[in-house]
Amino acid sequence: MWESTKYGRTAAGHTVIIIFFFLFGIVIGSFLNVCITRIPEDLSIVSPGSRCPRCLAPIKAYDNVPVFAWLWLRGKCRNCALPISPMYPLVELLTGLLFVACNLEFGITQAAVKWLFFLCLIMILTVTDLRVRLLPDVVTWPGLAAGLVFSSVVQPNDGTAFFLCLKLFHWVPPAWLMGLLEGILGAAFGSLPLWGFAALYKLVRGREGMGLGDVKMMAMVGAFLGVRGAFFTLLFGALLGSFIGLLVIATMYLTGTGRQLAVRASRRGLGEVNRIRWFIASQYHLPLGTFLGIAALIVVFVFSSYSIDLGPRLR
Ligand SMILES: [Zn+2]
Repeated sequence: MWESTKYGRTAAGHTVIIIFFFLFGIVIGSFLNVCITRIPEDLSIVSPGSRCPRCLAPIKAYDNVPVFAWLWLRGKCRNCALPISPMYPLVELLTGLLFVACNLEFGITQAAVKWLFFLCLIMILTVTDLRVRLLPDVVTWPGLAAGLVFSSVVQPNDGTAFFLCLKLFHWVPPAWLMGLLEGILGAAFGSLPLWGFAALYKLVRGREGMGLGDVKMMAMVGAFLGVRGAFFTLLFGALLGSFIGLLVIATMYLTGTGRQLAVRASRRGLGEVNRIRWFIASQYHLPLGTFLGIAALIVVFVFSSYSIDLGPRLR
């Protein structure tokens, strides 16, 4: 009566594995929280152990259980009773759910290891950019290197390097080299358009519109996903960013954010009130890295599971 599932497991075994992945995910999520809060401050992610960010009291082991501790402490520090950000349990919960999704999609395979690692990097970057508008180099550069190594073992679901090698050199490189080439092409394709756009923006507007953090993040994403995945990440990220960005700016304008400032500026002859208010709203710094991260995860789960077959067209 136990039916065999996708990876030849019994239903009971399947449930145990899913629970394991969830618990593993929330524990890793707890470590990601440490990275998210300490990396932007240039603090060590190894020591000291967990502390309350407000009173700096060390957190006891039983109060450090991912997700659940926050619930039974009702979101307050046991020592100082000040609120603990819901970001902590949310990051843990989300990591747990993404680990489960990864297991359902990729089973227990080398590909699953690659995507688990990738989604941890993306979680750190996505939340850090949202919190402090920063995509730290200590994540993106090693992430790029890791992406290339992973791609030489588990090829990105792409085919661009394969196509180019065959068309230009009539040569099919060994699998590891092919994977590495797919990663390198993906990194270049993901980062160069953003880099060009950032340079152009600076030239036209005379100020930084986008940091190079986004460029490095996309090099990392491309190294994991290949050219096609990088393309869809840029596309979805830009669409999502434009939509949310316009929504935020319109909301800030309609709710009267910066109105008093604009009235004062207008009295000093800096222009008409409404124009100044639009200007203030448009200064809102969009966390582009956050949108790119969400887009990259969509690409992993939607586009990385089915493969494209370039074979028949080339022969
Ligand atoms: Zn405290």
